[in-house]
Amino acid sequence: MSSARDRGGPASALGREPRQYGLFIDNAYVAPAGDGVLDVDDPATGTVWAQVPDASVDDVDRAVRSAARAFTEGPWPRLRAADRAKFLIRFGEAIADHAVELAELQVRENGKLLREMSGQVKLMPEYFAYYAGLAQMPTGYTNPLHLSDMLNYTVREPVGVVAAITPWNSPLLLLTWKLGPALAAGCTVVAKPSEVTPVSTLRLAEIAAECGLPPGVFNVVTGLGQPSGTALVTHPGVDKIAFTGSTATGQAIAAAAGRSLKRVSLELGGKSPNIVFDDADLDVAINGLVAGIFGASGQTCMAGSRILVQDGCYQRVVEELAKRADAIVVGDPRDESSELGTIACRRQYDKVLRYIEVAKEDGGRLVAGGGVARVPGLPNGLFVRPTVFADVTNDMRIAREEVFGPVAAVMRFDTEEDAVGIANDTPFGLAAGVWTGNVQRAHRVAGQLRAGTVWINNYRKTGYATPFGGYKQSGVGRENGPDALREYTEEKSVWVDTGQGIKDPFNPRA
Ligand code: NAD
Repeated sequence: MSSARDRGGPASALGREPRQYGLFIDNAYVAPAGDGVLDVDDPATGTVWAQVPDASVDDVDRAVRSAARAFTEGPWPRLRAADRAKFLIRFGEAIADHAVELAELQVRENGKLLREMSGQVKLMPEYFAYYAGLAQMPTGYTNPLHLSDMLNYTVREPVGVVAAITPWNSPLLLLTWKLGPALAAGCTVVAKPSEVTPVSTLRLAEIAAECGLPPGVFNVVTGLGQPSGTALVTHPGVDKIAFTGSTATGQAIAAAAGRSLKRVSLELGGKSPNIVFDDADLDVAINGLVAGIFGASGQTCMAGSRILVQDGCYQRVVEELAKRADAIVVGDPRDESSELGTIACRRQYDKVLRYIEVAKEDGGRLVAGGGVARVPGLPNGLFVRPTVFADVTNDMRIAREEVFGPVAAVMRFDTEEDAVGIANDTPFGLAAGVWTGNVQRAHRVAGQLRAGTVWINNYRKTGYATPFGGYKQSGVGRENGPDALREYTEEKSVWVDTGQGIKDPFNPRA
């Protein structure tokens, strides 16, 4: 096997595995300064199929310098917005051309269903098209004044170098939510994907380079949170951090960023309530509960992991949910017939299994699943059975802490007021679902939930034109939607004297 110093580029062309990758800086693969290497394994088979550098502080410095140079000297921030928009459209088209490859890479990294990863990649061109549109929207105002003979207008300028740090569950879509507006605004980017899923991001950067993005505009450093992530968020050349990941890491990043007052947007964890009232269409609601917690193997920030069910339908919902969970086909994520893939990595797999034990010890009533799933032919796969705990109370750890896996905590409530109280009694505030046939109740409850997204009679929908983000410890700022570019710009106010100019302030008669 080649040493880290040889690893200037992907050896995938030679067909050898594990494939060797370098860092992607200035539109080329470059060898890292150090020898640190990270294995990328397939969580369905346990096979190591790629190796990437564990970037050092020096590597991160090199990437940030490249992005800073591209920002201060390169064409990208100075291009007409229309030309940046043209690139974004072209990039989206190239992503569509590589959709199968990009989806398969992600499945190989994180074990989510090929069906789901393909769906996400297919959406990416639409996101880039939306940001292409936003790039050409007015960026400022001409402001009314209390003064005469003065003109004042505001403009929005790119914030500078953006550090985009992403998790493993939806590596490319979540990067798109940052990369799209950052590039549209004229920023340059250093992306640091999760150590679990680095290859798809490297490939995306290659595709961007092939589409004509100038060198240094989109660089990728691969590595662990420590030292790569820390080096990036503390680097004086970084102007803004756009982070998606756990609340604990978000808190560490916000503290580090605070020392140099970098701009920060944080998309963090959740423990979202999915609330079923007696008057809901229960067949539809149960579909929504299943989709909410077992879609993406529960490895989604917006998972409906706290299921709140009203007394009158509690027994039926619990029984039905348990039946549905037990019937889910856990299997090879590439197989069309599979309904649940793997947990993304060993660390997360151990965490999910540990939470299942904690829920049992705390008194949750196990009604479905409850441990490892065995998949024929994949003895090393990180599979967990879809799991449902009933009779959970909101003080149990399974109700308070994010598991990030296919584990539902079902709780009982009596009145609408109880439901809202339990739903809001959490440090998180990312999302919530409300299932009811009563239109007044639907909006009344939606209005009282302290969460960034509320779905009524549906769950887990997001879109490029819809702001997404968290209340409370689920985050700071919003991604997507018409204001997405604001997070990647600074606002400048320009004053112009349209009269006779300023008089001598100490001798106004002169
Ligand atoms: P994580 O916080 O462990 O890691 C996320 C990223 O941060 C990785 O790239 C990691 O290497 C990096 N990192 C770790 N420590 C760092 C540090 N000190 N400084 C800088 N970077 C550091 O999260 P994860 O386990 O990869 O992902 C799961 C979490 O992500 C869950 O909590 C989930 O809810 C959250 N998530 C949130 C959203 C959202 O939009 N709100 C979406 C998806 C996932």
